[in-house]
Order: sequence, then structure tokens, then C-alpha cells
Amino acid sequence: MATINIRRDVADPFYRYKMEKLQSKIEGKGNGIKSVIVNLSSVAHSLSRDPSYVVKYFGFELGAQVTANPSDDRYIINGAHDAPKLQDYLDGFINKFVLCGKCKNPETDLLVQKDGRIIRDCKACGQRTDVDLRHKLAGYIVKNPPRREKKSKGEKSKKNGKKNGDTEESSPKDSGESGEDEALEAGSDDELTRTIHETAKQLNGTSIKDDDWAVDMSEEAIKARAQNLPDDLKSRLVIEGGDSEGGDTPYDQLGSWIVSEKAKNNGDVDSIEVYKKATELGIEKKHKTLQVLAQTLFDENIVKKNQIKKHAGLLKKLITSDRHEKALLGGTERFIGNDHPELIKAVPTILMGYYDNDILTEETITNWGTKASRKYVEIQVSKKVRKAAEPFLKWLEQEDSEDEEEDSDEE
Ligand SMILES: [Zn+2]
Repeated sequence: MATINIRRDVADPFYRYKMEKLQSKIEGKGNGIKSVIVNLSSVAHSLSRDPSYVVKYFGFELGAQVTANPSDDRYIINGAHDAPKLQDYLDGFINKFVLCGKCKNPETDLLVQKDGRIIRDCKACGQRTDVDLRHKLAGYIVKNPPRREKKSKGEKSKKNGKKNGDTEESSPKDSGESGEDEALEAGSDDELTRTIHETAKQLNGTSIKDDDWAVDMSEEAIKARAQNLPDDLKSRLVIEGGDSEGGDTPYDQLGSWIVSEKAKNNGDVDSIEVYKKATELGIEKKHKTLQVLAQTLFDENIVKKNQIKKHAGLLKKLITSDRHEKALLGGTERFIGNDHPELIKAVPTILMGYYDNDILTEETITNWGTKASRKYVEIQVSKKVRKAAEPFLKWLEQEDSEDEEEDSDEE
């Protein structure tokens, strides 16, 4: 059965939280026509919510009568409602009744308080955020509070254990299981690593206010954003050489397409769609495509929103030689040096992101670091970026020599 990310705005194919795609079946005809949601209990289970909440939510949103029959797993909405439409409504349910109001993680418990408030208790960040009681479903939940589910406890605690506390203080964890992610986070006491993570934290702290999630998604706002595009494109997107004639090569087309997708989708673009677009344009194997992606996939939230990790799958798929790797670095130089000079301090963190997610090899980064080049940006800019990269380059070097020491010990 096809699974999708619980947060459909997250494009990362490796996003941990999945659910089945909703499946519905239309039965009957005329006045008696109804939609049976075939796999509602599975979907609700993935969301750790009672299936009746989900079907009731659909009922309120669609103004339709619903029938919940848990005994035979039949969940029915009167009227004809196809699965894609229900899936869109489900996003609303997830946003309002599942995702943590603070960190948007879906691992939350619903708690009904004595005073009638409903709280989402987040397993990931520990925050408790209020559910908006104005939604009719809130009244239903208060009257039918969640049963304490004991299921899959082991699974849950394992998931929690693997969390690499994103922006949290990296307190020394008892390192029972050290996934690759954690190795850097927890095990490393050395100065440089800490400097790099400090930089990341500072960036996290200062850049953007917490609820930039709350972007105006009304149709008008989206239109307005799309209209603002052309200028934005002209000023930021120099993909082909330096000529300002605004070329129309496949690379330009890919770049423009990504920028406009992001404008439509709250700054997000789906990795898989990007891959399809590149294929459609016939440039999915070209090294230069990586340069375009470095300039367009990311924005000022590259660190804060972990955008490298989010697109790691795509980048890894497209990188097939060290030329590709170099093009990604070149694009990154432009992205920072020309478009986002405020990110200069984040260069080590960004390189760490590439390295950590197995997008770039140590060798390529090291070689890149040895010599400034005017291939992608002016030579001064290139030098500046490399200078900023020094903590990371040193760290790589150090890691390397430590590895060698270990090797020779063994012999
Ligand atoms: Zn949270």
C-alpha cells in the first residue's frame, strides 16, 4: 500500500512519519450515494488518533452525515467524496489535531483537561499546545476523550531515542545506540565540532521567528506571492554565466520552475517533483544541474529548516561523479556569496550538512578548500567563502589523522 509523509509539505522521502494514502470507495447512487473510507483505521492509527475523530472531522468540514462503525471497521461519509479531496481535508485535521503547535512533530498525545481545553502533548519537544476549540470536532473530543492507547510503546521509545535533538542543547546523552546522526552530535567533544554546532545554534536562534509556519496561505496571498516572482527571479537567479539576457536554457527553466513552485508552496518544493522536472528537461544527468539546485532549492532557512537533509535523497541520486560534486559546491558559493552573504558564518555548518548526509565526499570538499576559483563567483567572494569554511576543513583534516592513528594502532 502506498505510504505518504504525514506532513505532506515535507518532501523528504526519508521522513520518518508515514501513513497510508487514504482510499475511498463510492457506493450506492442518487440520494443514497456514500463514500466508504476503506483504510481509515490504518491511517488513524498512524496518527495515533481515534478513527472516529477523523471521520467526524470530515463530516464537520464537508457538512455531511458520517457513520462510524468500529466493530466492522466501516467509516462512511454521505455523498460522493473522492480520496484526493479527503486527503486534502486530512491535512487540516493533522494540522489542527495532530501536529505539535510548536515544532510540528506528529508524535503528540491529545489530553482533555478538566477545564475543557484540549492539549497536544508533544513527545519530541515537550511542549504542550492548545487545540483550537472553535472547531466543532473539539466539542466531540471533549465529550469522547481519547482512550489511553498502550500500543507500540517500544516502537515509540525507540523513535525518541533516535531523535538527534535538532536545536536542543547537546547534553551528553547516554549513548546506547548511536545512529550516524548522533555520532557527531553526542560523541564529539572536540573544539571544532562544537564551534560548528554553536554556529548552527546561533543561526537557529537568531534568524527567523518561530512561527514562520503561519504563512498566509489564502488564495489571494498565494497569487500575490506568485506575482512578485519575476523581479525576484531576475535579481537572484544568475544561472547561466554572467550574461544578463535572462537565458532560457533547460537550466534556467529548471531554476525558474523551482523558484515558482516554492513561491506557491510556502517555500517548499518536493524532491521527487524536482527530479521529474529535471528528467523532463533532459538534464537529470548533467553536473550543471547540481549547480542550479544549490542556487534554488535552498534559502535563508537552509540551516534552520534542515533543507540539506530534506533534499539529500535527491542530491545523492543526481550526483554521479566528482564533477557533479564540484558543481554543487560552485552553486553553493553563488548561493552564499552572491545571494545570501548573511549565511557566510554558516558555511561550515552547510558543508557539514553535505558531508554528514553523504552528499559530498571528504576528498572533494578538501580539494575544493585548497584553492579559490573564479569559475562561479568573483575571486574575492570565492576566497571569502573558503576562509569561512576553514573550521570545517580543519575538522575534516583532524578526523582524518585520527582515523590514521587508529589504523596504525591496529597493526
Ligand atoms: Zn513539539
